[in-house]
Amino acid sequence: MTKTERLLRELIALPSVNPAFLPARDGRAGEQRVADFLAVTAARAGLDVEFQVVARGRANVLARLSPRGRARQRILLAPHLDTVGAADEQFRPVTRQGRLFGRGACDTKGSAAAMLMALCELAQSRQRPAATEIVFAGLVDEEHHQAGARALVAGGGRADLALVGEPTGLRAATAHKGTLWLRLETRGKSAHGARPELGRNAVHAMARVVELLQTTYAAQLRRRRHPLLGCATVNVGAIQGGQQPNIVPDHCHILVDRRTLPGETDSGVRRELAGLLRRKNLPAALGPDPQPPCPPLATDPAHPLAARFLRSLGQRRPVGVPYFCDAAVLARGGIPSVVFGPGNIAQAHTAREWISLASLERGRELLLRFLRSLP
Ligand SMILES: [Zn+2]
Repeated sequence: MTKTERLLRELIALPSVNPAFLPARDGRAGEQRVADFLAVTAARAGLDVEFQVVARGRANVLARLSPRGRARQRILLAPHLDTVGAADEQFRPVTRQGRLFGRGACDTKGSAAAMLMALCELAQSRQRPAATEIVFAGLVDEEHHQAGARALVAGGGRADLALVGEPTGLRAATAHKGTLWLRLETRGKSAHGARPELGRNAVHAMARVVELLQTTYAAQLRRRRHPLLGCATVNVGAIQGGQQPNIVPDHCHILVDRRTLPGETDSGVRRELAGLLRRKNLPAALGPDPQPPCPPLATDPAHPLAARFLRSLGQRRPVGVPYFCDAAVLARGGIPSVVFGPGNIAQAHTAREWISLASLERGRELLLRFLRSLP
């Protein structure tokens, strides 16, 4: 068994479910066990370790390799430590036919293991960079509000490039979509179900809004394309209104998931929707957002360090990924960010999450090669 596989098995066996997905005080909640274990591993390899407290019992772990000389640039290796929920058996790592099964195997304890092992190996070799500081930053709360990434940049964390660990199949991704969740409401007037003409039906009004979103609006979004991400999208994910058949409902609301492209702004999307509803004479109103928006990521592939990383992978063109992650939060905080890690997103969040051990080892090798090439 390699060191990286052994570390990943330890990490899987330490539950770190995002507390947002569990009842209060559940024993499997929180990232601290994983942060502590990584801290010990890093310290043993000679890295300088510190914690950044983000919330009670939840801290980012930072492990630093200082250069031989004066630092002229800083690289961040940034996987997240939390996972989505899982059945108990998913906290027992199992290897079968070259695959390691367990919660977090690819999302993103695999990235954490590959990144930290690459850095530990570099720390113990004679080839450490002369002028580049490299910081492993295990971040909390990616799966919910990205509080770890937000705290890192809010606390003055700066870097010239962040490699954000997510299962990209070992390809460098410079773009991902943003997420804007919206609430739309229609109001009517209640009346007896036997005399609907005396009321105004809020559900009927909402039906026209839903229709508009999935026809006219969706078609409008299909014309808006990003070279790495394809189209912006809209999805009506929930609808609620009325109480019983014999009352004309006076209220209805829907929750909408709008995936945004680089260049789109949250206020622009809200204005565009309000304008469309007005033009179609549909009296629906935007309510308070059900969740703070997450911005899209669009790192310039020509950025010198991003381009250098792509070259070291032998990758001609960057790719885009369809999911949101910490990269956009770090990028908005001023850190150019590229998403990269072993494993495949198709296995993330599933009941049988796994990572290929070949991908895990290759990931560590590729990272080590890049880090060694830095001045
Ligand atoms: Zn995830």
